[in-house]
This record gives sequence, structure tokens and C-alpha cells, in this order.
Amino acid sequence: MNILFATSEAFPLIKTGGLGDVSYSLPRALQEMGHQVALILPGYRSVKHKLGRPDRRYALADEFLRDDVLLSYYGHSALGLPLYLVESDSLYDRDGGPYESGPGEGWYDNGDRFAQYCRAVVCLLKGGAAEIPQRFDVVHCNDWQTGLIPAFLQRLALPVRSVFTIHNLAYQGLFDRGTFDYLKLPDEWWHLDSLEFYGNFSFLKAGIVYADWVTTVSPTYACEIMHEPLACGMGGLLQHHRHKVVGILNGVDYDAWNPATDPYIRFHYDQHSLQEKINNKLEIQRNTGLRLSKSTPLIGLVSRLVEQKGLDWIVSAMEATLGEKVQWVVLGAGTQQYERQLQALAQANSKVISVTIGYDESLAHGIEAGCDLFAMPSRYEPCGLNQIYSLRYGSLPIVRRTGGLADTVIDASEDALEQGSATGFCFEEPSARAFTETVRRAIALYRKQKTWRKLQQQAMDQRFDWQHSAQAYLELYEQE
Ligand code: ADP
Repeated sequence: MNILFATSEAFPLIKTGGLGDVSYSLPRALQEMGHQVALILPGYRSVKHKLGRPDRRYALADEFLRDDVLLSYYGHSALGLPLYLVESDSLYDRDGGPYESGPGEGWYDNGDRFAQYCRAVVCLLKGGAAEIPQRFDVVHCNDWQTGLIPAFLQRLALPVRSVFTIHNLAYQGLFDRGTFDYLKLPDEWWHLDSLEFYGNFSFLKAGIVYADWVTTVSPTYACEIMHEPLACGMGGLLQHHRHKVVGILNGVDYDAWNPATDPYIRFHYDQHSLQEKINNKLEIQRNTGLRLSKSTPLIGLVSRLVEQKGLDWIVSAMEATLGEKVQWVVLGAGTQQYERQLQALAQANSKVISVTIGYDESLAHGIEAGCDLFAMPSRYEPCGLNQIYSLRYGSLPIVRRTGGLADTVIDASEDALEQGSATGFCFEEPSARAFTETVRRAIALYRKQKTWRKLQQQAMDQRFDWQHSAQAYLELYEQE
């Protein structure tokens, strides 16, 4: 099968979150299963610098494309897959992030940037680059940035199936009527049953309405988004299309996230050599200025520092447990308010709280390997990857029971402990109190070394690999 994977980010070229990881791992898993997969990304400046000269450049024939839009082709990219870049100097060749010019500042022309990207993808699919012999059976679109692709495909009645994956329903690609006109979108799309959404229009809605299949990244999140508050205003729409909405849990890349081989950590270990893990803990304590202590439970956090991730509850729990025997190590970047609160706490309590603001792949791995517990008290979580990495590293996750967190972590209840199925700690109520209580429950169990070791081994035995999820996507690609 020939698959085109359309995405606005892909590790290691450009990544702001889980979508980047998925865009690296899923296409490779599909390729390993014997399929032809190519990626198509916007040609951001930083990506072009990383890739160097393309193997080929193609003109695209489409009256709605800007004059400077063209397609570059890299046969062997850092992704290990063929890659197309939609290039446009005026839209993508600039400093700054893929979506934002600075923190919290979306690019003023995002509607145009991603509408042109979608048009270019569809142009490739319809054979608009005449010299490209490859034809695609299916296009797999991801998040709002790609939402117009299924809509254009349907309008052109192209024989290409489309799957649209929602990685986070809260990001809807909303723009006003002026932008709609500027983008020269078909008039009939300004309609309740089409792209129009409460006086604006939504790229995400376009994907939901027109794709053959709509998937989201965990079964629980697929149910949660049918209703408020997680429906974000799209509950009725999603219920209307529920026959084509499917939840497929993300896998993780166990080549990159394996404590037995991880090149970022000094002391390798597996289920049978867990005694080595403590050396990674000492290493991280040393590197971040925390007090060296084998017996103090160390709680890790690697995350975007935003409300979704329950950052206010983290701050509260840190304050509440200050006099108790526990340490915290945080890596992340995001909302200034949380960055400042965390930094202030760390400054005042530097032996027990360490905070690093920024993005650091190496430290992220070090924290996974070195901590005893990993905090992910998200208000909502479409899938979440870090809790799955934590399981693999025997760093027991503390999670709120929502979305992918509910689908991947089994609470250490008395029953689950007895049955040998527990892998972490879950709480239900969305509050600082519930999270702090769960932190204390985890710390109490940490002192029971034998039970703890067993829990770690059970966590490390879990597997959420891509082969399984890729198979589920393939079944959708193949269905008419
Ligand atoms: P989301 O996509 O909502 O940000 P996920 O848990 O699905 O959350 O994925 C986040 C990914 O980004 C993980 O691979 C995580 O390790 C990585 N990550 C997040 N923040 C940082 C950071 N500050 N430094 C390094 N990696 C980070």
C-alpha cells in the first residue's frame, strides 16, 4: 500500500510535542510492515537547514497555490523514509517555531500557511507534479494543520482514502470569515454541516466532516471527546460522525526509550538489574544540585508547562510536601506564570526541588531513568507518551485517570497489588488535593521495598509498541 503521511512536525527534524514522536514512529512501523510510506512536511527554515540540498525539486500546477510554492524531495532523510517538503519562502522560511513567532504568539498568517500546505499536499495526490510517478492509496492527516486535505479530496472526488487523526481536540485551527474569503475556499463550505463553526471556520472541523475515518490517540479519549467539557464544542459533530470515529492508542519507540540501551544514560538496567537504576538517580541529583540521597523518593516531570498538564496541582503538591521526605525534578517550558512559580520554589528549596526551563532531550531521558515516580496529573490527556516511557524505565507514573493515561496505567489498589497487575498510581478527582493525596500514597508504598520492586517489574513488563497500533491503522486504510 502507498501511504502519504501529512504532518506539521516530525522528530528529529522538528518537534513540539507528542505529534512529532508519532510522526517519526508510526510511518516507520508501517514501512517495516512492508508498505511504501512517504512524509510530507511544511518546509520550515530550521528543517531545510538540517536537511541540506534536496534530491529533486518539483513545480506544482495549481491555480490556488502561491507562485513561490514548490515541492522538494529527499529520498533518504534523517527520518529513514522518503520525505517531501512543501517549500515557500514567504510562508515558512523564517525564524521562530512551526506555529508561533514567540511564546503564545501564533503566526499572524497561520491560516494561509497551512491552507497552502494542504493545497500542495492535495496537488501532489492528484498528480499535479507530473514528473512524480508515485501514486498514493491513502493520505494520513494529523491535527488541524492538515484538516483541509480531506475536504479538498472529497471536492475533487480523488480516489485516495483519508484518515484524520486528532492528537488534541483543543487545538481547532479557528479563523474568521475574512480569512475564509482570503483563502478562496469554496463558498458552500461556509455552512454548519461543513467548515463553519460558531461564526468562524475550523480546519479541524473540515477534517472531521470530510475524512473517511477520524481517529484519536486513545480509546478513552475517543469516548471523552463525545461530551463536554473535553468535546470543546464539537460533541454534537463528533456524535453525528461517531460511526467513523476510532480510538487507537499511540505506541512508543522502544529503540529510543529502553533503559538497557539508552545512549543518554550512564547506567543501563532492565527488569533483572534494577539495582543499577539508583546510580541514575544519584547522577540526576548530582547534575541538578539536589541533595544526594538514595532513600528519598524522587518525582520527575517532563512536560509542556501548561494548564492542561495540571501544573497548578504540581505546584500545590510541591508546596504541601515541602517538609516531607521527597524530591522533585522538573524539565519543561511553557506558560510564564508556571515557569516563574516553579523557579521560585526551586530557588527557595534547591536541595529538594530542581527546575530546568527549556527543551532538553538528554535531560528528559536522564529524568526518566533517575526518578522513582513520574508525575502526569493532566486535566485531560489524548494519549500521553511520558507515562509510557516511565513504565518502561520502572519510574512509576502518578496520573489522573483520563484519556490515554487511563488506558495505560493500572492503579496500585489493594486488588491490583494482590493480582499483580498494578503499574502506577491513578486518581480521579480533578483537584490539587486528590493529586497530593496520591503523591503521599505513592511515597508510603515506596518504603515497602519488596512491593515496590514488584510494581516496577510489572510496569517494565508492559508493552505499547507500534506494531500493534500500526496494524489497527492499516485496517482502516484498507476499508472502503
Ligand atoms: P504533548 O504532546 O501533550 O506535549 P506527550 O506526553 O504526548 O505530550 O508528548 C510529549 C513529548 O515531548 C515527549 O516525548 C516528551 O519527552 C517530550 N517533551 C516535552 N517537554 C520536553 C522538554 N522540555 N524537553 C525534552 N522533551 C520534552
